[in-house]
Amino acid sequence: MTDRVVIVGGGTGGSVLANDLADRLEPELDAGDVEVTLVNDGPDHVYKPVWLYVPFGQREPADGRRRLDELVDDAVDVRIDRVTDIDTEAKRLRFRDGSSMEYDHLVLATGSTLDPEQIPGLAAGGHDYYSESGAVALREELLAFTEGELVLSVIGTPHMCPAAPLEFVFMADDWFRQRGLREDVEITYTYPIQRVHGNPHIAEWAKPIMDERDINVETFFNAESVDPDAGRIASMEGTELDYDLLVTIPPHAGVDLVEEAGLGDDGWVDVDKHTLEAEAADDVYALGDVATTGVPKAGSVAHYQAGVVGQRLASDIRGRPATATYDGKTLCFIETGMDAASFVEFDYENPPSPAPPSQKLHWSKLAYNESYWLTARGLL
Ligand SMILES: Cc1cc2nc3c(=O)[nH]c(=O)nc-3n(C[C@H](O)[C@H](O)[C@H](O)COP(=O)(O)OP(=O)(O)OC[C@H]3O[C@@H](n4cnc5c(N)ncnc54)[C@H](O)[C@@H]3O)c2cc1C
Repeated sequence: MTDRVVIVGGGTGGSVLANDLADRLEPELDAGDVEVTLVNDGPDHVYKPVWLYVPFGQREPADGRRRLDELVDDAVDVRIDRVTDIDTEAKRLRFRDGSSMEYDHLVLATGSTLDPEQIPGLAAGGHDYYSESGAVALREELLAFTEGELVLSVIGTPHMCPAAPLEFVFMADDWFRQRGLREDVEITYTYPIQRVHGNPHIAEWAKPIMDERDINVETFFNAESVDPDAGRIASMEGTELDYDLLVTIPPHAGVDLVEEAGLGDDGWVDVDKHTLEAEAADDVYALGDVATTGVPKAGSVAHYQAGVVGQRLASDIRGRPATATYDGKTLCFIETGMDAASFVEFDYENPPSPAPPSQKLHWSKLAYNESYWLTARGLL
């Protein structure tokens, strides 16, 4: 009997896993004993970290796109379609045209979505670089912005890449300085809790840099509404900030079908944080942003988790005990300006300790972004 593995989501986690399985299960795939299908709702694989550089005119959106069928091994069946429903009892998926597909092993790698509608006025008043279209629109605004109040408000937590809001204000500070405009531009950063980042070690490292660079900070700022006409953002705590340019990290959610399938709340799948198995159904894994493991929603996490799920699935298919587990490993380069960066690496047991910023780490981040396309193919 053929073992059918279906991966939903062809972003970082899903693509790395598909290529991992093509390599690991090559004999079984060749013999027709295993089928691996990767379902994605668009023909391109999108590498989101490129969007951080788009508003500063340093990258084009096309730099973050590759055709999925060129990125994924030929042994994997790539289906461009949207999954609309999961029946974990019948082990069946339904697609938007009403057709269905059965699976023996399901992996959800459906990522995060943005939900700006949660905050009145946000869609009309705020810009973002957390979507391709947002990054392009922000580029137009930022290039024309030569004076006034720039507010970066982190609204949604958890959100993708927890370091990216810090990176944006550090880069903006440097970018305006290099262009002789910094004295005319006020930069304010808001964060929902009492510090500037969810992780206390990163917050402790980042705050003195913000002070040194004259980046204003408003903590305990949970955005409640945006008034685009007045150019004002208000928090639940009663603070109001005037802005000329508002950049936000909008509220995030997972995908609806997760909740409808009873796999977790707000579109995120509840998993065992070590095995990545869904808590509410058998033979279902989740990895990357959609899995609630308590670590950041980051591509590096999705990548490491794909290796663990690949090993576990291969063991299971071969009738052996699955022993691989995820230890929380996360790594991240953090831009601290236009040509300097820091680096953090941590896991469930060991907290982050940001490296001193250097140009070498900045070049390492750019090199990583270039080599990503080899990583996604499973070659690095
Ligand atoms: C501006 C920015 C900068 C970032 N920088 C970094 C960084 O420096 N380092 C880092 O590690 N991470 C970074 N990230 C985060 C990283 O991009 C994400 O964490 C990563 O993409 C998550 O991978 P994933 O596989 O879980 O989801 P994704 O890569 O988002 O892929 C999910 C895929 O599933 C598809 N999908 C969803 N629902 C369905 C459905 N029902 N049917 C079919 N297909 C579906 C989606 O269209 C998408 O293709 C950044 C993110 C942003 C926005």
